[in-house]
Amino acid sequence: MSAQLIDGNATAKAMRESIRQRVEARTKTGLRAPGLAVVLVGNDPASEVYVSHKRKDCEQVGIISTAYDLPDTTSQAELITLIDELNSNDEIDGILVQLPLPAGLNSDEILERIDPKKDVDGFHPFNVGRLAQRLPLLRPCTPAGVVDLLDGTGQDITGMHAVIVGASNIVGRPMGLELLLKGCTVTTCHRFTKDLASFVKQADIVVVAVGKPGIVQGEWIKEGAIVIDVGINRLESGKLIGDVDFEAAAERASFITPVPGGVGPMTRAKLLENTLFACEELHN
Ligand code: NAP
Repeated sequence: MSAQLIDGNATAKAMRESIRQRVEARTKTGLRAPGLAVVLVGNDPASEVYVSHKRKDCEQVGIISTAYDLPDTTSQAELITLIDELNSNDEIDGILVQLPLPAGLNSDEILERIDPKKDVDGFHPFNVGRLAQRLPLLRPCTPAGVVDLLDGTGQDITGMHAVIVGASNIVGRPMGLELLLKGCTVTTCHRFTKDLASFVKQADIVVVAVGKPGIVQGEWIKEGAIVIDVGINRLESGKLIGDVDFEAAAERASFITPVPGGVGPMTRAKLLENTLFACEELHN
């Protein structure tokens, strides 16, 4: 392997420590600790694991997380009533509704109901619009975490050609907006893209967020490119792998993220950072 590994665990750990210190400094002056409401509807096992990690992260940095675990029989109206209550609760700076919601609930309506100033996932159209207009406030966590990892490589990415594979609302699309802000030339590929390989082969930076192991082959990577693998796929053996053919890609890339230990920890750390930002900048 010739690529340098981008260590998301280490970067996220440093970020959590800095957040912990800022929260401590805040509470020492008598200000309240930031508050995050974590809403989980139903008992999807993967969602339960994600939510438990997020609650543990909060505890570690001194953010007060309040759990709202609701049964999968919860109606749209009941969930909206809860969001309205949390919107007007002065001790809550961030509201996180764990996705996916059980079938029958309209997640678009729920996410739009969250006060944009408490939208610490950065999914509300207001926050996505602010990012599109180069005035970001609360930024979607995964793409913002990827930008931090790119900054951490020390490379000047201005003018680089970034190819994003995947165009979802939570990763691919806001990733394109973030990289435009960084001065990259951005190409977004999706399920209808013809000849994906031809685009990836031109990329100085490749960000892959599809959820299909091996969708990006190692031999497509341009010599010296930076490879960011957002994908998380669990094999039957229980092993986690990304979307990129890691071994072959690492032979050609200059920098590459591992899975696990790359983008995932940054997404979690960015949620904490957004909650502190909402508390300090939007609610004080
Ligand atoms: P998603 O909503 O399912 O979106 C997948 C995207 O990939 C869609 O835009 C889809 O295109 C596109 N796509 C599907 N087939 C394709 C193909 N053959 N070629 C190119 N693009 C194709 O998934 P997501 O939420 O963005 O997540 C993607 C992956 O990242 C998953 O493995 C997820 O677990 C992982 N993830 C990781 C983190 C982290 O913190 N590391 C955070 C979020 C997600 P269409 O838009 O046309 O359907």
